[in-house]
Amino acid sequence: MFLMWIIPLALIGLVVYGLAGSNPARVFQPASSHTCPQCHQAVQHDWKNCPHCGQTL
Ligand SMILES: [Zn+2]
Repeated sequence: MFLMWIIPLALIGLVVYGLAGSNPARVFQPASSHTCPQCHQAVQHDWKNCPHCGQTL
């Protein structure tokens, strides 16, 4: 009886943990996936300069 409850709860926990774990990385990465031509770091498309190397975008 105990296993019937713990297995679905563990699966839900893994799914929630996986979603929560992947969110910060997705937020940090720009959706448009622009990269700096100089240092190839991810930059926002509306940024005027690269914050990593100072390259004008
Ligand atoms: Zn750069």
